[in-house]
Amino acid sequence: MDFKQYITVVEDFPKEGVRFKDITTLMENGEAYKQAIDEMVKYAQNRNIDVVVGPEARGFVVGCPIAYSLEIGFVPVRKAGKLPREVLEVDYGLEYGKDSLNIHKSSIKPGQRVLITDDLLATGGTIEATIKMVEKLGGIVAGIAFMIELSYLDGRDKLDDYDVFSLMEY
Ligand code: IMP
Repeated sequence: MDFKQYITVVEDFPKEGVRFKDITTLMENGEAYKQAIDEMVKYAQNRNIDVVVGPEARGFVVGCPIAYSLEIGFVPVRKAGKLPREVLEVDYGLEYGKDSLNIHKSSIKPGQRVLITDDLLATGGTIEATIKMVEKLGGIVAGIAFMIELSYLDGRDKLDDYDVFSLMEY
């Protein structure tokens, strides 16, 4: 399936000069969404994954159905102040300033093999912070899967030591 036909490229969003890749038009199409997730599940299947981890919010859209299909758990990574139990916090750089991401400390057990998922790889900052959290808790990043990779932003350079899969490339 040519998945790109279901992605809407929105000019100048969220600011001038940015060509935003909108995955909601893919999600709206049941067949395209299912096939996209199925492809990502195929990637994950032979990697002995114990648990899927994804950052809010579109990391959930991708990660939850993959976890469901593999019959394993899903662990959310969220912005500060959203998770109710004891968290590990990691700062990450944004274009202007910085933000932090949280994960429940008890969610990853040492030695667990983790698949990290998100909708899109841009500069790689979000995934780098997610990797740091998983590894600090003793998890092994056994794979990273995206729907879309913006290869012109070179986010993959930050992920040299990892196995990275993306369904579409721009
Ligand atoms: P990074 O941290 O620079 O790799 O940015 C990745 C994060 O920003 C992901 O969680 C995406 O959801 C979001 N993002 C950046 N650019 C786009 C885009 O063009 N479409 C959809 N999401 C985007």
